[in-house]
Amino acid sequence: MADLQAILDSIYTDILPRVGEGKVADYIPELAKIDPRQFGMTIVTVDGKVYRVGDADIAFSIQSISKVFMLTLALGKVGESLWKRVGREPSGSAFNSIVQLEHESGIPRNPFINAGAIAVTDVVMAGHAPREAIGELLRFVRYLADDESITIDDKVARSETQTGYRNVALANFMRAYRNLDHPVEHVLGVYFHQCALSMNCEQLARAGLFLAARGSNPMTGHSVVSPKRARRINALMLTCGHYDGSGDFAYHVGLPGKSGVGGGIFAVAPGIASIAVWSPGLNKVGNSQLGAVALEMLAARTGWSVFGD
Ligand code: GLU
Repeated sequence: MADLQAILDSIYTDILPRVGEGKVADYIPELAKIDPRQFGMTIVTVDGKVYRVGDADIAFSIQSISKVFMLTLALGKVGESLWKRVGREPSGSAFNSIVQLEHESGIPRNPFINAGAIAVTDVVMAGHAPREAIGELLRFVRYLADDESITIDDKVARSETQTGYRNVALANFMRAYRNLDHPVEHVLGVYFHQCALSMNCEQLARAGLFLAARGSNPMTGHSVVSPKRARRINALMLTCGHYDGSGDFAYHVGLPGKSGVGGGIFAVAPGIASIAVWSPGLNKVGNSQLGAVALEMLAARTGWSVFGD
C-alpha cells in the first residue's frame, strides 16, 4: 500500500494555506462560535493501522454524520420495513427542505436529509423513553469505536433545541402525515442529542470502520451488520450523503461519505479504510469545504475511488 502518512502529510501541506475557508454553521448558535481555522484528518485501515494529521484529536460536533449510526440501529430493529417510512433516492434539495416533504406526502426522500433522519430516529425510539434512546445510541457509538470517552455535548443540543425551527416544522409535518409515532418534542429531543455527539477524527474513523470491512470491526472483532447491509449503507452514503452536493462529491471524490454541518466528513474506501476529516468552514450546500478538497486529494493520490483509479 502507498505510504499513507506521506500522503496525509502532503495533503496537510497543500491545505494549510487555505485553512479558514468556508463559513461555519451559524444557524446553530453554539456552532457559530467555532474557530474555522482548524483541520484534521485520520485514516484507519482495515488491517488496523491509524494515520493522522493536524487537529485529528480535537472533538467536534458530528451533527448529520450521526444519521449513519442511527440508520444502522434502525435497520437492526425493523429491517427492510424501514423503507415504508423513508425513501432511498437522492434529494437534489437542501437538507432541510420543507417543499419536498409536502410534495411527497410526508415520506422523506432518504434517511440522510433532516426529515428522513427524524423519521429514522422515531423508529429507533419504539419502546424507549427519549432518554433511553439517546443512551442506546451513545452506547452503540462507544461500542463501535471501542472508546468509552465519547460524549454528547449538551450545550450544542440545547442550542439547537432553542433554535431548530425548521426541524420543528419538518417533524410536525410528518406527524400530520402520521409518519411519526412519538410526540414531536420527544423525537426532536433525541435527534438534537444525536447530532450533538462530540467525537474527534480518530474516534469517528474507528466507529465507522465496520462499513469499510464488510460489516465487522477488524480492530475489535465486533460483528456489527451483515456484509450486505454494510454495502447498502455505503450505497446510500454515496448517493445521498452530501445533500444536494452528493453528485458533486461522487464526481470529485468517488467514495461513500456522510457530511455534517459541524464540518466533519466520514468516508469509506470499501475493503481498504475508513476516513474522517474535519474542518469547520462549510461550502454553500453545508458540507465542509476543505474536508471535501482533502478527500478529493486523498482519492487522487491513493486511487481509492470506488470507480477506479
Ligand atoms: N443538526 C443539524 C440540523 O438538523 C444537522 C444538519 C447537518 O449536519 O447537515 O440542522
